[in-house]
Amino acid sequence: MLKVAKFPQITEITPTAAIDRARHGWRAKCLQRLIRLDLPVPRTVALDCESVRAIAAGQMPDVDAIAAMFEGELVSVRPSPGEPEWGGPNTVLSVGMNARMHELLAREHGQAFADALYLGFVQSYAIHVARLDPDLFTAEPSPTALAAALAAYEAEMDEEFPQSPARQLSEVLRSMARAWEGTSARLLRQAKGAPADAPLGLVVQRMALAVGPGVAGTGTIQMVDSASGAPQITGRFVAVDPDDPRETRPYYLVRDPRGPSLEDVAPDLFAQLQDHCRICRARLREEMQIEFAIERGELRVIDAVRVTRSPRAAVRIAVSLARDGIISRDEAIMRIPPQSLSELLHRQVDPRAPREVVARGIGASPGAAAGRIVFTAADAQAAAARDEACILVRRETSPEDIRGMHAAVAVLTERGGMTSHAAVIARGLGLPCIVGASELEIDLRDRRIVTRTGRVLREGDTVTVDGTSGEVLGGQAQMLEPALDEWFRTLLDWADSVRDIGVRANADTPADARTARMFDAEGIGLCRTEHMFFDQDRLTVMREMIFADTAADRKVALDRLLPMQREDFIALFDIMAGLPVCIRLLDPPLHEFLPQDRDGMRELAESLDRPLSEVMRRVEALSEFNPMLGLRGVRLGLIYPEIYEMQARAIFEATVETARRGAAVVPEIMIPLVSARREVELVRTRVDSVAAEVRNASGVDFDYRLGVMVETPRAALRAGDIAQHASFLSFGTNDLTQMTYGLSRDDAGRFMAEYVQQGIFPEDPFHILDKDGVGELLTIGAARGRQARPDLTLSVCGEHGGNPQSIEICRRMGFDYVSCSPFRVPIARLAAAQFAL
Ligand code: PEP
Ligand code: MG
Repeated sequence: MLKVAKFPQITEITPTAAIDRARHGWRAKCLQRLIRLDLPVPRTVALDCESVRAIAAGQMPDVDAIAAMFEGELVSVRPSPGEPEWGGPNTVLSVGMNARMHELLAREHGQAFADALYLGFVQSYAIHVARLDPDLFTAEPSPTALAAALAAYEAEMDEEFPQSPARQLSEVLRSMARAWEGTSARLLRQAKGAPADAPLGLVVQRMALAVGPGVAGTGTIQMVDSASGAPQITGRFVAVDPDDPRETRPYYLVRDPRGPSLEDVAPDLFAQLQDHCRICRARLREEMQIEFAIERGELRVIDAVRVTRSPRAAVRIAVSLARDGIISRDEAIMRIPPQSLSELLHRQVDPRAPREVVARGIGASPGAAAGRIVFTAADAQAAAARDEACILVRRETSPEDIRGMHAAVAVLTERGGMTSHAAVIARGLGLPCIVGASELEIDLRDRRIVTRTGRVLREGDTVTVDGTSGEVLGGQAQMLEPALDEWFRTLLDWADSVRDIGVRANADTPADARTARMFDAEGIGLCRTEHMFFDQDRLTVMREMIFADTAADRKVALDRLLPMQREDFIALFDIMAGLPVCIRLLDPPLHEFLPQDRDGMRELAESLDRPLSEVMRRVEALSEFNPMLGLRGVRLGLIYPEIYEMQARAIFEATVETARRGAAVVPEIMIPLVSARREVELVRTRVDSVAAEVRNASGVDFDYRLGVMVETPRAALRAGDIAQHASFLSFGTNDLTQMTYGLSRDDAGRFMAEYVQQGIFPEDPFHILDKDGVGELLTIGAARGRQARPDLTLSVCGEHGGNPQSIEICRRMGFDYVSCSPFRVPIARLAAAQFAL
C-alpha cells in the first residue's frame, strides 16, 4: 500500500486500506467496497478531505509520488463528496497526456485516436483548469485541431502546454479543490441538503482506455428501471470502432432487433457485468449503476453509484431488497422518505417533460391536473357537465364553491395559505391545488388573469396546476399516472405492523370515506358536517332554516334536513364497516351558507318567497366583523339548539339503522370550538336526551362517545375541566394555531413566505406544528385532560395530522391517533412507523 510521505492522507484504495466515508467521501468508500468484492477496478488513490482543503489553501501534496504510481498511464480525477447528490467539480479525464504519450498511443492505436485523446485533454484542461475562454477550445477533432489547440494554449498562457504528468495532476487537483470552495458550488450543494462547509475528497484512478483488440467501449448498466423499479437491464454502451478508435457507435446492452448489442458482441462480458450488478445488490445492499469500460477485451469497473430512482421505484426497490432478505423490513421502511409517497398517490407532471412556468404560489395539495380556466363554481359545474376538465380559479374559495371544486380537476387561488378553505378542501378531495399565487392578478370582470410577466390567460385557456411544486404551467403538461401497486401496499403493511400511533382520515363524504378505506385509514377522525349542506337541495332547506323566524319554523326546516343527514351517516357507517367514525357537529358561522352577491340574494328571495330587501337585511344582520371568532362552533349549537339536536338524532337513527343491518357502530360526536366546560355540559345533556329518545322509539340500544375539539387556547388550558364531560379530546390545530398566534389562517398566505424567508418564523405554523407555542398548549391540554380522566382518547385532526414532524410530536405526547386528509394517510402511516423504529 502506498503512503505518500509528506501527505499521509493520500492512500491507495485496497481492500484493507483505512478508507472512511467521512474522511474520503462516498466515492472513495464505494470504490473500496467494489474492490473488496473483487470487481475489476483499476488502480485508484484517494485524497482525503483534509488534503483537499490544504490544496485549496495553496499547499500541494507530493504529486510526484502519485504520478510515479501511474507512470506511463493516463489517469482520471473525480470528486468524492460526502453524498453522491452533493455533486462536485467535473471529472477530468486523460491527465498525463503529453507529447510522449501521444506518440506512443499513435503508434499503438493510430494517429487519429491519439490526436482525439490529446485534443480532448487540452480542451478540458484549458477550459476547466487554466480557465481559458472556451470559445478558443471547441474545435472538433481534425488533423489540424490538435496543433491549433496547443498553439492557442501557448499564446494565451505564454508557456507551452504542460508536459509533466505531475504538474498536470497538481494543477487539476488545485482547480478541483478550489472549485469546491467557490460560492456557486457551495450554494448548489446546499440546495441539495449539504452543509455549507461540506468537505470534498478526490480520487485519482488509472484510466481504462476503451481500445481494442476486440470489443472496446464504455458504458453504464443497472438491473432495474429507474422510473418503476421493475427488473430491467438498462444503460448504454458506446462501442469504439476497432479500425478507427475515434469513431464511436451506440449499442444496445441487451439483444435487440433494432441494432447491435453488447449481449451479441460480447456475451461473456455482458454476463460478467450482470454478475457484478447482482453482487453489488447483495453485498452493498443496494441497486447500483455500474460504470464500466472494455479495454483490450477485458472489463473494468470504473465507478458505481446508487441507481437514481423515482419515489415509485424507490418503494419497489426497498421492498424487493427486503423480500430477498438483503435488508430487513425495518430498513426498507426507513429508506423511504414519507413525503415522497405523495408522488405515488397523484398524477404528476412528468419531470422529464418541458415545463413553461407562468406563475408560482404555495403548493397546497399535491398532484397535477390540466384543464381550461373557469372563474366561478357554476362554470366549473357546467364544464364538468360537458365532460370538460376545468381549473377553478378564484381569489379565494368559500364553502359556496364546494360544488365547483368537486367539478374542477384542480384549484388555483390568488390568496390563502396552507390551511385556507381551498387548501383544506382540495387536500380532502385529493385535488391538486395552488393557493396564495399572488403573482397573478385575477380580473373577474374581463374574465382573465394577468401574470407578473404581463402574460394574459383568458377563460377557456388551458393551464396545468402542479400542486406538488406550486407552479402554474402554460398549456397541457405531460403527466405520469399514480401507482398504488403491490409494492406500495406491502411497504405500508410493514409500516402498520411497527407503528404505535393510530392514523385516521378526515372525511366528509362517501367518496372521501372510500378513499380513506383505500389507504387503510383506521377510521374517520373528523367528519366536517357543514360540507353535507351544500348540495343544491339541502342548501335551500338550510337557508330556510336560517331565515326561520321562530324555533318552530326552524324545526320544520330541520325536519326536512334530518332524513338527508341520516342517509349521509348511514352511507359513512356502511363504508367504514365498523371502524370508528367521529362526526363534528356544525361549525361555521351561518352566513357562510348565504349568497354573497345580489343575483344570489334575488334567487334566494324567490325561493323563500320573501322580498329581496328583507333577504338583504337578514344577510346583512348575520354578517360579522370577525366571523372566525363570532357565532360559530358550539356557540351556534347553544344559541340554536335545534341544529345540534337534529344532527344528533340523524347520527343515532343512522346508528340504529346500521345496527339493524348487522354492523355495530359506536358513533363519536365532537363539539367544535369549545372554550368552557359549561358549553360541553349543556350540549351533553341535550345529546343524551336525544339518544334516550331514539333508544326508546327504536327499541335498539347503542353506545356513543361524546368528545370535544380543542381549538381555542382556553380549551387547552381548561382541558382538565372539559375532560370531565368528554371521552375524547381532538386538537383542531388549524384553529388552535390561528388563535394562538392571533393569525388569520385565510390571510397568512399573503406574507407567510416573506416571514419564513426573513427567519421570523422557522416554518409556516399552519403547515408544520409550532412545537414551542401551539405544541406547549397540546402538552398542557393532554396532561390536564389525562389527569382528570386517565382513559381519555387524545388526537390531532388539524391539517398537521398528516405532517411527519407533527406526528412525531403527537407520538411523544402519547396521543392515540392523528387524523388527516385521506391522501395523506399513507404518508402518516409510514412516518409513524419510522418514529417507532
Ligand atoms: C381545526 O381547526 O384544526 C379543524 C380541524 O377544524 P377546521 O379546519 O374545520 O376549522
Ligand atoms: Mg376548526
